[in-house]
Amino acid sequence: MTAGPVLTAEFRFYGDLGDFLPASDRQRPRRYRFRGSPSVKDAIEAQHVPHTEVEVVVANGVPVGFGYHLGHGDRVAVYPPFRRLDLPPDACVRPRPLDPPAFLLDVHLGKLARLLRLLGLDAAYDPALDDPAIARTAEAEGRVVLTRDRRLLHRKRVVHGYCVRSDDPETQAGEVLDRYGLRGRLRPFSRCLACNGMLRDVPKTEVVHCLEPKTRRYYHQFRRCDRCGRVFWRGSHAPRLDALVGRVAGPAGKANRGG
Ligand SMILES: [Zn+2]
Repeated sequence: MTAGPVLTAEFRFYGDLGDFLPASDRQRPRRYRFRGSPSVKDAIEAQHVPHTEVEVVVANGVPVGFGYHLGHGDRVAVYPPFRRLDLPPDACVRPRPLDPPAFLLDVHLGKLARLLRLLGLDAAYDPALDDPAIARTAEAEGRVVLTRDRRLLHRKRVVHGYCVRSDDPETQAGEVLDRYGLRGRLRPFSRCLACNGMLRDVPKTEVVHCLEPKTRRYYHQFRRCDRCGRVFWRGSHAPRLDALVGRVAGPAGKANRGG
């Protein structure tokens, strides 16, 4: 605990950062009390907003980094990522994620992982990884952590992350597409749903030995996972998957939100 007088600063959290605040504190300034000179990152997280949700911090009208030390009377504006503004790179508190981003999902988001893979996104998912291992892996591989547990996003090693708001997998996928600007840039059916490997076209002659007789007779185009070797074709489930892709990746996803 830092000794010294109690100081105050005014914080305003914009856009969907309000999701992390009590309803009464959204869309308006809130007073933050502190002692000493904490970093603005610590002050933001003390207000329960994960640092990974934050893209730009402006203190007294000037963009600052997470290391900025808070002073008495500071007015701090905290912004989520902008989709419509092109900011100079040095205005952002973190490096840009890979483009397109690669994701790492926590143990509770298995359905979302399969949906993202269906859309062709790189979505690593391993239920055996605990929180420290997720943070380590994401850092080493430059992946964006997706989770509904904001404590995981408070970890220092997690550079990029997004706290999924909905508990419905299709709405969650829409949130991720909107957050990372991925609509219109997807390659559905290009990844293995089971292991996240890439699918490659393969001649029927190479896979015919592992097909059921009916599949052998009625289907002629096949793709194989370059990681686990599973073979895929457009079988009777294809219309259902097409409709699912249309629902989730369409121009007006369920998760579109203002701000
Ligand atoms: Zn596979």
